Amino acid sequence: MAVEEKNLLEVNNLKKYFPVKAGVFRKTVGHVKAVDDVSFYIKEGETLGLVGESGCGKSTTGATILRLLEATSGEVKFEGKDILALNKRQMREIRKEMQIIFQDPYASLNPRMTVADIVGEPLKIHKLAHSKKERDKKVEELLDSVGLTPEQMNRYPHEFSGGQRQRIGVARALAVDPKLIIADEPVSALDVSIQAQVINILQDLQNEFGLTYLFIAHDLSVVKHISDRVAVMYLGKIVELTDKHSLYDNPLHPYTQSLLSAIPEPKPERKKERIILEGDVPSPVNPPSGCSFHPRCPKAMDICSKDEPIFKDYGDGHFASCHLLEK
Ligand code: SF4
Repeated sequence: MAVEEKNLLEVNNLKKYFPVKAGVFRKTVGHVKAVDDVSFYIKEGETLGLVGESGCGKSTTGATILRLLEATSGEVKFEGKDILALNKRQMREIRKEMQIIFQDPYASLNPRMTVADIVGEPLKIHKLAHSKKERDKKVEELLDSVGLTPEQMNRYPHEFSGGQRQRIGVARALAVDPKLIIADEPVSALDVSIQAQVINILQDLQNEFGLTYLFIAHDLSVVKHISDRVAVMYLGKIVELTDKHSLYDNPLHPYTQSLLSAIPEPKPERKKERIILEGDVPSPVNPPSGCSFHPRCPKAMDICSKDEPIFKDYGDGHFASCHLLEK
């Protein structure tokens, strides 16, 4: 894929903390640091995969970028504009350019609306069609672009399979001709056989319309095909970020190494030893000291529980944060 040089999205030091309240007076006694100082960019036409276990803050990152949640601090620049500083009216304008596809195609489509109404609704809201005829024609085109037929326009979501419903979700997101799509675990609820179909459609649409994706997933195997670069998140922070070839061939962070070891390898000669992580992801209310991965890290050293490693470039834009690399 030809990747242009311009950054469409820039996220700088983004934080999203949720207050933890307790007692009769609901006093704030702490914070859940769901997104804790996250920075990255996505170039026009590029796909950045954002991967981590559930609860690591990846979906909150997506929602905060779109201002579905308000950030605690930081900067989100879309085409150079700091969107966290925009008022409601300006935000409404720009929201057209940034769409989201949700994980659960069952829950995200209104069961009482026909496909024509679901896909046509954003056209109506943003006044992108002047008549019902024009709207229906556009809906037909959108359905065609995701591999559905005009005959399916007047059906309801329950009449479709999971993969088809996700296609309807994609058509709805495309209706307003966006530049950026945040795909929040778009295939996690689908059978493995259907996942590839939806990913291929997303890739075809990217080529056709020059779309830019932030593709969120909990599994590195899902984003491998579609991503140009991949960011790995753990407990609210990005711990590794690089182009996909470096990440899959030469993962630097022990957490990434463990995630990759869990992916079944079709070629027996490349088979790696599975690294089993001890325990669950710790609570972001009270994250471990030093490197927050240290209680589960098979390579942890004394320093790891004391000092937080610095996230830095270890060559050719391969960023990671780990004391092992600093030696
Ligand atoms: Fe493991 Fe220490 Fe590196 Fe953290 S800093 S990933 S605990 S070796």
